[in-house]
Amino acid sequence: MALDLQYTEAQNAFRAEAREWLEAHVPKKRLKTLECKEGFDQHREWERVLKSGDWGMVTWPKEYGGRGCDLIEWLIFEEEYYRADAPLRVSQNGIFLLGPTLMEYGTPEQKARFLPPMAAGDEIWAQAWSEPGAGSDMAAIRSKAVRDGDEYVITGQKIWSSRAVFADWCFGLFRTDPESSRHKGLSMILLPLDSPGLTIRPIAQLDGNPGFAELFFDEVRVPAENLLGPEHGGWGVAMATAGFERGLMLRSPARFQKTAARLVDLFKRKGNEAGPGVREAVLQAWMDAEAYCHSTYMTASTLMAGGSVGAETSCNKIFWSELDRMMNRTAMSLSGAYGELLDTAPDAVDEARWLDGYMFSLAGPIYAGTNEIQRNIIAERVLGMPRK
Ligand SMILES: Cc1cc2nc3c(=O)[nH]c(=O)nc-3n(C[C@H](O)[C@H](O)[C@H](O)COP(=O)(O)OP(=O)(O)OC[C@H]3O[C@@H](n4cnc5c(N)ncnc54)[C@H](O)[C@@H]3O)c2cc1C
Repeated sequence: MALDLQYTEAQNAFRAEAREWLEAHVPKKRLKTLECKEGFDQHREWERVLKSGDWGMVTWPKEYGGRGCDLIEWLIFEEEYYRADAPLRVSQNGIFLLGPTLMEYGTPEQKARFLPPMAAGDEIWAQAWSEPGAGSDMAAIRSKAVRDGDEYVITGQKIWSSRAVFADWCFGLFRTDPESSRHKGLSMILLPLDSPGLTIRPIAQLDGNPGFAELFFDEVRVPAENLLGPEHGGWGVAMATAGFERGLMLRSPARFQKTAARLVDLFKRKGNEAGPGVREAVLQAWMDAEAYCHSTYMTASTLMAGGSVGAETSCNKIFWSELDRMMNRTAMSLSGAYGELLDTAPDAVDEARWLDGYMFSLAGPIYAGTNEIQRNIIAERVLGMPRK
């Protein structure tokens, strides 16, 4: 059977509509980083502008604030989004991770309650999974949620929760069965970050911004109706969320194609000063970003045809995180000493975007499950190798 690699007329019209709207609405001046309060608020405002055009989360049904688009249209929207150099999505934990999980596990009431304000940027979500003793080994979670009538009473500590200092709600994984161990007896619970008994302490990131938080739960009471999915069955719910994180949604190819295009542009300006191997690295970056795009279209087509993706999302995560680090490192070496200047310096290269990008790219092999853990998953579940 012949493959048709052309966009349909409807897809081209959709692209044109997105392009026109984004050209008219994307802020002309770059917003501050979303890892500080001022930048977070600017990005939340941008989410509201997106919603005003019904672009909050295009794949969701209309009643939840979406446009009912399919995955190919979503990829087209992402391409136009990055082409327009639009701001990063401050609502990413909600729309890309919790949203799809709610679609799969939420009750009709939960979907109606949580999805529309998520798409509108009115409620921004943080992820509260990691604990000081439970990062890679998430099954070691100790924070407890004990059922007391119509409520859960939560006690314990979470860490590395991105933007929880500024966000409104979090989705957390807690031990609801006190007798349980490892991945049994955990539950996913949704709670407001201004709950009494919850103390949130910022942790500075590499760039000094308070992008992380520690959460201390001291008998925090949450209505039992905020349980997402089965009680004690939170591991399965979390694995679905992790699949969205590593697989299709969190990092669309357009993000890396845009970085690759910026890198080519930087090379055209600074390539004369480049050391050996830089030209090859730029070419490799461009090819890898294209390859990632083709592979994502293949995944989207598989899903649209009723198929599913499993542990191979781990290959995806390793690929995009290493590609991002390689592209930003290449840009730093092209920029020379000026590349280290902050955006407040007049001689900063490209408003210090490469410096920001480089520092953030170092985190790529850690968040969404470290690349070492992804390699373990690939060895065991994709290649069928023994655990020991
Ligand atoms: C930018 C960023 C954003 C984040 N945002 C969030 C968030 O919003 N919410 C949240 O809950 N968490 C978040 N995290 C935390 C992240 O999920 C954890 O850092 C990650 O899971 C690793 O856990 P850890 O830091 O405890 O390291 P550890 O688990 O202690 O690992 C330390 C090192 O040992 C390696 N290692 C551990 N076990 C094995 C093994 N079995 N085999 C091989 N190597 C192993 C790891 O790969 C790593 O290199 C974020 C992290 C970063 C960097």
